[in-house]
Amino acid sequence: MKPTVISLEHIEKQYSKKDSFVLRDVFLSVRESEFVALLGPSGSGKSTLLHIAGLLDHQTHGFVFIGEEDVSKMSDNEKTALRLSKIGFVYQYHHLLQELSAVENVMLPQLIAGVPKKKAKEKAAELLINLDLENKLHSFPSQLSGGQKQRVAIARAVANDPMLLLADEPTGNLDPETAFFVFHDLMRIMHRAKMSAIIATHNYELAAKMHRRFLISEGRLMEQ
Ligand code: ADP
Ligand code: MG
Repeated sequence: MKPTVISLEHIEKQYSKKDSFVLRDVFLSVRESEFVALLGPSGSGKSTLLHIAGLLDHQTHGFVFIGEEDVSKMSDNEKTALRLSKIGFVYQYHHLLQELSAVENVMLPQLIAGVPKKKAKEKAAELLINLDLENKLHSFPSQLSGGQKQRVAIARAVANDPMLLLADEPTGNLDPETAFFVFHDLMRIMHRAKMSAIIATHNYELAAKMHRRFLISEGRLMEQ
């Protein structure tokens, strides 16, 4: 059996004492090279679960293990370092920095992680070329189509070679045809890098291409 990359155990989430629980006793573990789809209607808790898995939010109860490590035992600095080196995040909206070119956007997380500028630039260009953006390396987000911006966001998410990619409706803002090609590219890159992924999507056709599918309903996570 391949090693576990992330394991969520007994996760419960309540945003405030007066709110009901968004997540109830959720278990999910993902192995190396495994792609998992997260399905569920709007408001069911997909983003909440991804934010907890990505160490961007705290669970109310339960445990997150990255590899063998219990994240609750780490300091904020250790969590930030872990997130930067091991976890990539792709959102529905690209969140690129408008004043930076495509290549600079992909360099940024590498520079923050301490990669030398020349190496970061080479890696960014290689990733963007691999995503059919060889003519757009120096374009700014405002000069790119929706699909192109989302490809830059994917390149940025994988720039530090994360072992885990978390994607929150990554093709949700794209037309169906563009969504299909962008999703295909995302799968190809993850596959080549032997990454694991948890991808929230409303698209059952795309979810069918993943190894396992989970539905969130009334706070509970069920394998389909
Ligand atoms: P999904 O991504 O499946 O649409 P979310 O995880 O965004 O669902 O939201 C799940 C529930 O948690 C919703 O009822 C939402 O209103 C609530 N929620 C999300 N974020 C917050 C927040 N920061 N504070 C309070 N409630 C929130
Ligand atoms: Mg969401």
